[in-house]
Amino acid sequence: MPATAAPLHIRTDPHSGRKYHASARLPKGTDLLGPCTPYSYTIWKRFRNEVCAECWRYDGGRRSFLTRRDDEGLEREVPTEETRSQGHRSNISAGLWFCDNKCQNKWIAREGVEAVDLLRQLESARQKKPKPKPKSNAGGEEAVAEITQGVVEQAWDAVKAKEGSPKEIRRWRDLQLEDYEADMARYVLLALHRYHREQCNRHRNSPQPCEDGPGSSEAPAIQNSSTTACGTNGDYERSEWQTFASLQSNEMQLLKVCPEILEHQTRIYQLLKARFGSRIKAGSTTSSSRSSSVPAPTPNGAQPPTDNARAREDTRSGGRDGAESATDADASGCVGPALADLVTIDNVRTILGVDPGNSFGIWEMPVMDESECLGFAVYPRASFFNHHCAPNVQKEREGRILRFLTTCGVEAGEELCISYGHVESMDLQTRRQELLEGWYFECRCSRCMAEAAGYSRT
Ligand SMILES: [Zn+2]
Ligand SMILES: [Zn+2]
Repeated sequence: MPATAAPLHIRTDPHSGRKYHASARLPKGTDLLGPCTPYSYTIWKRFRNEVCAECWRYDGGRRSFLTRRDDEGLEREVPTEETRSQGHRSNISAGLWFCDNKCQNKWIAREGVEAVDLLRQLESARQKKPKPKPKSNAGGEEAVAEITQGVVEQAWDAVKAKEGSPKEIRRWRDLQLEDYEADMARYVLLALHRYHREQCNRHRNSPQPCEDGPGSSEAPAIQNSSTTACGTNGDYERSEWQTFASLQSNEMQLLKVCPEILEHQTRIYQLLKARFGSRIKAGSTTSSSRSSSVPAPTPNGAQPPTDNARAREDTRSGGRDGAESATDADASGCVGPALADLVTIDNVRTILGVDPGNSFGIWEMPVMDESECLGFAVYPRASFFNHHCAPNVQKEREGRILRFLTTCGVEAGEELCISYGHVESMDLQTRRQELLEGWYFECRCSRCMAEAAGYSRT
């Protein structure tokens, strides 16, 4: 069923943002969105060598089913001096493992082969050994002050004030990221890279010539959701990035509960800015990787995506054969903005702000109490489902595809809500505590409100 015939519509509530409602009476088992694929994701370092980067298969920690790594087995051009400096040379892994060449080809067809190099570059900034946490100075336990919007803006303004300085950029290039930071940076980098591919595609498919070249004053404007300069497909065809970036930011909710994350976030940005977002010549930059040839892999039996949505999405973000289009996009001159232009504070904060509350945990399947959480992923369209402690929609994962099915008959106009995961059997107090810790807010769904009213009466 095409997504346009979706049995649901988005209604905007001034207080709680956009949510899905049933557009008609729906029987139990209605597939609401069709297959959804993530915009970006991360697999935590701890599981990276045990999980297929494409289908997210996990076998309780066994890894014998993983037979391919990174771009292993793909024919790529012999590294030039330039690409060598970007990570080909080193034995640094991009941190990707695959079941087989099918999974590998699917991943590369969608993300682009240059994503492998980007991840390698990023991995070279991951600190080798976790540094022991410095003991807080005797007597001087530095309590993190209560965080306000003002404090957050100040921190980012301080970063912004320094980013024009080549000296700072050089310092930022040498930052060594902790595992949490590097894992989050992967999520941000894959999102930016995907956004970049969308832009390239748009420009390439543009019916009218698009004059704005890289670095022109046009480029930064594209980060806003208004429209693109060219290649616009009308209202329905919002770019994936626009949908992604329009998700509610939960930056403040997260930082209020975990103030120490602010510093991680600015460090992530600094590293990304220095390594991928700076045109200041310092060995390797993304702008140079753009002009250098990005060799195409030989897709050994690459399977074109089978389902419609996947194919649609691929067309939007890189063509069915993304490997080929990646080459087009970068080597044959994407006239859109360079990836470097997209590494901005605004974009990075948007991507980081979307994660809490909008991302879905990648759980070991079948999901049980003791299942491991292997990472997280953001599915833009799926994020318009509200959560509820008595949900009427159930999500099912197959590989990286999520589907959303009604669990009962739903009346026209009724809100469609998904589960938080595991809290339904808990009592109100435990549930709220759990949600505050995991989701950074107090649930006010109708069940919680009714139960709270019930409690306050007794
Ligand atoms: Zn796989
Ligand atoms: Zn609730």
